[in-house]
Amino acid sequence: MTSGEKMNVLMVSTALQGHINPILKLAKRFIQKGLHVTLITTEIVRDRMLNYTNNYGTINQQEIQFEFFSDGLTLDFDRNKDKDKFVSTLRTIGSKNMSKLIENLIRINGHKFYSCMIVDPLLPWAIDIAIDHNIPSALLWIQPCALYLISYHYHNNIDLFNDLEDPNEIVQLPGLPLLEVKDLPSYTLSYGAPRTKQVMMELYHAAKNTKWVFATSNYDLEKEIIDYMASGIPIYPIGPLVSQFMLGENETIGINMNMWEAEDSCIGWLDNKSCSSVIYISFGSVIVLSQEQVNNIAMALKNSEKSFLWVIKPAEIGSEDEVPELPQGFLEETKEKGLVVKWCNQEKVLMHHAVACFMTHCGWNSLLETIVAGVPVIGYPKWGDQPTNAKVILKKFQNGVVMNFGEDGVASVEEIMRSIKEVMEGSSAEEMKKRALEMKEEARKALEEGGSSNKNIDQFINDLKNLEH
Ligand code: UDP
Repeated sequence: MTSGEKMNVLMVSTALQGHINPILKLAKRFIQKGLHVTLITTEIVRDRMLNYTNNYGTINQQEIQFEFFSDGLTLDFDRNKDKDKFVSTLRTIGSKNMSKLIENLIRINGHKFYSCMIVDPLLPWAIDIAIDHNIPSALLWIQPCALYLISYHYHNNIDLFNDLEDPNEIVQLPGLPLLEVKDLPSYTLSYGAPRTKQVMMELYHAAKNTKWVFATSNYDLEKEIIDYMASGIPIYPIGPLVSQFMLGENETIGINMNMWEAEDSCIGWLDNKSCSSVIYISFGSVIVLSQEQVNNIAMALKNSEKSFLWVIKPAEIGSEDEVPELPQGFLEETKEKGLVVKWCNQEKVLMHHAVACFMTHCGWNSLLETIVAGVPVIGYPKWGDQPTNAKVILKKFQNGVVMNFGEDGVASVEEIMRSIKEVMEGSSAEEMKKRALEMKEEARKALEEGGSSNKNIDQFINDLKNLEH
């Protein structure tokens, strides 16, 4: 790079909505601060992006460049169903393709063109690719900082995780609030998927070679944990990484990378609902609920007689996943009160004045978005980091409730109705809303001029400038 030219940052993301979203949002922040971004992901994202019109805003190729590589599988391969094959092919063939792509980009642009590579945690091997190409790297951790600390303990002090058979057993991990075994991320438990354990192990080792670890939260959300980590394993919060309109800022770069077409008609539907009257329900981009879970939610919604907007994502193209069906007659019986869509612009929905609360699987992006919108939560976690995230809500944030469910992970109709009632009209409903609005305020401040996350981004850019001299 010669003086006066923009610094260039490479960003690499897995083809998962919950990963692409925060990475794209960080890219937009960098661009606004004068950097040029090249965002690399797999061809399946390009295939989806081209299909959906809601993805296009103003694409300025001078600011952001998209590059795609093959993950080694055909476009119609069901990556959700055969995750083992997906992850192993991505690591073996996909990594080679990504490396070749970066090599070509360097050939075109020149040695030392890229100041840094920002890496998705599901691609730990990309950190080695950055080393091979002499590019300093940073990890963008897209779960709460608490989860990063748990992962650190898991890999440094495995004894703390031995003999955790009873789901109600209390676990004391340094720097963290007391947790129960059932609140730990699944990969730390004996029944956790070996695939995830392997990726986390690789990430733990690879992360030692990154110069920075960034978190998508903001300092106020997790200050005790961030302070605890500062001396040994520093993590820098640069979030909340949500769309800028949610923070009251101008959205100058209009591009989105939605993997499904959002049904914008639901916004018009919300316009006709009164303030804080609608339950918004979504379980993110990966989870497929069981038939029993869907039946119980449907029954609880019908009995509660509240308005609701429910996202039920269809099966992937070529997928054999059995997407549960709504109980017969449900749509007809609830047509005055409810709307079911396949996908929506969740951020717009959460910002709508008609939305009263969010029934969510507690994916970290969804939680950050609801915090920024000031909308209380009804947590229905399933696996991965979700149970831990849910525990954080209950204990620390106090901006909602978490459902109780049996060993089969299914919440009963009564429990769902109880949770809805508690958040919408229970004795602590007002307190939860107040807490949600306080957190919204803190989140907005973090990315304002002089805010903690904004300062961390500026510091990172300064670090990059210093590395070049
Ligand atoms: N999302 C969306 N429309 C929907 C449902 C989800 O745009 O109908 C977005 C949501 O805003 C969030 C992402 O998909 O940014 C889901 O990420 P999260 O971490 O919450 O869950 P995951 O999908 O990774 O389980």
